[in-house]
Amino acid sequence: MSEKTALISGIGIGGPTLAFWLQAAGFEPTLIEHAPALRTGGYVVDFWGLGYDIAERMGLASDIERVGYHMREMRIVDDRGRRAAGFGTRVFRELTGGRFVTLGRSDLSRLLFEKIGRTTEVIFGNEIVGLQEDADGVQVQFKSGSERRFDLVIGADGLHSTVRRLAFGPQDLFEKHLGYVVAAFEVRGYRPRDEDIYVVFGQPGRMLARFALHDDRTLFLFIFATDVNPPKPMNGLSEQKKMLHEQFGTDKWESRFILDELDRAPDLYFDRVSQIKMKNWSKGRVALVGDAAFCASLMAGQGSALAMTAAYVLAGELANASGRHEAAFRKYEGLLRAYIGSKQAGAERFSSAFAPKSRWGLFLRNQVIRACAIPGLARLAFGRDIIDTLQLPDYDWPAPTRTAV
Ligand SMILES: Cc1cc2nc3c(=O)[nH]c(=O)nc-3n(C[C@H](O)[C@H](O)[C@H](O)COP(=O)(O)OP(=O)(O)OC[C@H]3O[C@@H](n4cnc5c(N)ncnc54)[C@H](O)[C@@H]3O)c2cc1C
Repeated sequence: MSEKTALISGIGIGGPTLAFWLQAAGFEPTLIEHAPALRTGGYVVDFWGLGYDIAERMGLASDIERVGYHMREMRIVDDRGRRAAGFGTRVFRELTGGRFVTLGRSDLSRLLFEKIGRTTEVIFGNEIVGLQEDADGVQVQFKSGSERRFDLVIGADGLHSTVRRLAFGPQDLFEKHLGYVVAAFEVRGYRPRDEDIYVVFGQPGRMLARFALHDDRTLFLFIFATDVNPPKPMNGLSEQKKMLHEQFGTDKWESRFILDELDRAPDLYFDRVSQIKMKNWSKGRVALVGDAAFCASLMAGQGSALAMTAAYVLAGELANASGRHEAAFRKYEGLLRAYIGSKQAGAERFSSAFAPKSRWGLFLRNQVIRACAIPGLARLAFGRDIIDTLQLPDYDWPAPTRTAV
């Protein structure tokens, strides 16, 4: 193979998955992450389908089950915390043959990283600031002031990807805002707790949820609708907290106590809910995977699995292409574009019903959720979006890593 080195920007979900499979393909990947260390906290993700299959191929299935949660119920509560609607979530495990788990995004990221961290060059606390491509490679400038050369550069750096901006253009060319802002934080010792139940309090245009985590931690998730498109850059923790107070400050249920916890929280995940839509996911020697290429948003409930699928397929096609990266990139896009497009379309449909903007919309949403408690109806409602239609390709990995099969 003539091309061997690949710089991967971002150690989230797609980045470490790609490093693992690129190593199996005989490449020398280097991972770079702008945070000083692996990110902790954040939010939880539902995980199933092709992502689960790939995790299994990486030898991670039992770890994922160990650190994850098996949700029993999605429960909508009223002003006084009484159950207003809801459904048992066993249907998700049934539809996926028991391969459905909810786990911290940062736990998933850590497990993936642990598979590769010791055998791969890893750079924390630095980032790419310039890319110059020529016939033989890409000259990369780093924020630290140094420069290096790589055969390929891959952006796995999420919704606000720097690699995408440097290679393809500004984010607003590709971003479609879905009309919501999302925020999440976790605390220790909050009461009440409802183990393995997703407790949701909805008001027109917004929702607040809590989820009991291991070690007496609780995760809180805020989502609110906004017409500003896209909302202003949300700089600064105190500005973000102020915005959440404005949105949720007069709400009932546990909102007041949760906002008190928020005031004490040292950090907060806070972002707009958007999708990324691009005509191409590669250009010359630069390619994108995961949210950087095709963020489907939290409304898809599957972004982690999609990032892992893209990483696996990209590495597999590079393994097959004997150094012809353009052919590999074309095949990668060809295999995944329709599948990802359908996931994005599903997420857009779901987003319009997610946090209804009127009381009537809320009532209707709750009726639909109630109907999902009827055996069989939940299968009908979720079956199409849950069951993956894409067959994961099998590749010959020229240099299987210790754990790759
Ligand atoms: C509230 C919420 C709920 C969600 N629920 C689900 C769910 O239920 N199921 C599911 O599968 N998905 C869910 N998702 C989506 C999922 O988290 C993402 O799709 C997934 O994390 C994408 O992985 P990624 O590796 O592409 O990007 P990320 O996980 O975002 O990782 C990107 C990494 O790149 C780093 N980075 C950023 N900029 C730079 C830079 N300039 N240089 C170097 N590094 C950089 C970041 O620090 C980060 O570590 C949810 C998302 C949200 C916000």
